[in-house]
Amino acid sequence: MLLKPHLKLNQITDINEKHLKRLGVDTLLLDVDNTLSTDHGTELAEGLDNWIEKMKENSIKLIIVSNAKSDRVKPFADKLELDFIGLGLKPLPFGYFRGCKVAGSKRRNTAIVGDQIFTDILGGKLSGVKTILLTPIELEQKPSFKIRRRLERLIFKIHKIKDFKE
Ligand SMILES: [Mg+2]
Repeated sequence: MLLKPHLKLNQITDINEKHLKRLGVDTLLLDVDNTLSTDHGTELAEGLDNWIEKMKENSIKLIIVSNAKSDRVKPFADKLELDFIGLGLKPLPFGYFRGCKVAGSKRRNTAIVGDQIFTDILGGKLSGVKTILLTPIELEQKPSFKIRRRLERLIFKIHKIKDFKE
């Protein structure tokens, strides 16, 4: 089940304390493109400020782990006052391992939060963290992405992946 997330939700701000308790995690590794913002966007997703505040109040550790270059990731990290790892090379495990190390967290108590099955989720499974898949904020226009998203839809069907409802 390398491609099936532990949890599927619509958007990052849907993640709540109950979900994290159920997964047994106190640390979240956060993707940037189509998770915190649109693909190559600069605006934070709606309600993200409040959500980050709430997570911090609940002592949830948050680290950004993105495949984008550091100069793309740093403005988000600065704005949200979070540590970050750029050029994360997801789905390879190194970025996940570094994220856990920076947070001082065990892998089994950590979850990746991202919008892509073939990077975020696959890498999470390979590195032994929990996985939370989100719906991309806005679909990408690049042809290579269109193929990837089509394959993802196939995986959704095969594994019957649906948004989790309380
Ligand atoms: Mg992404």
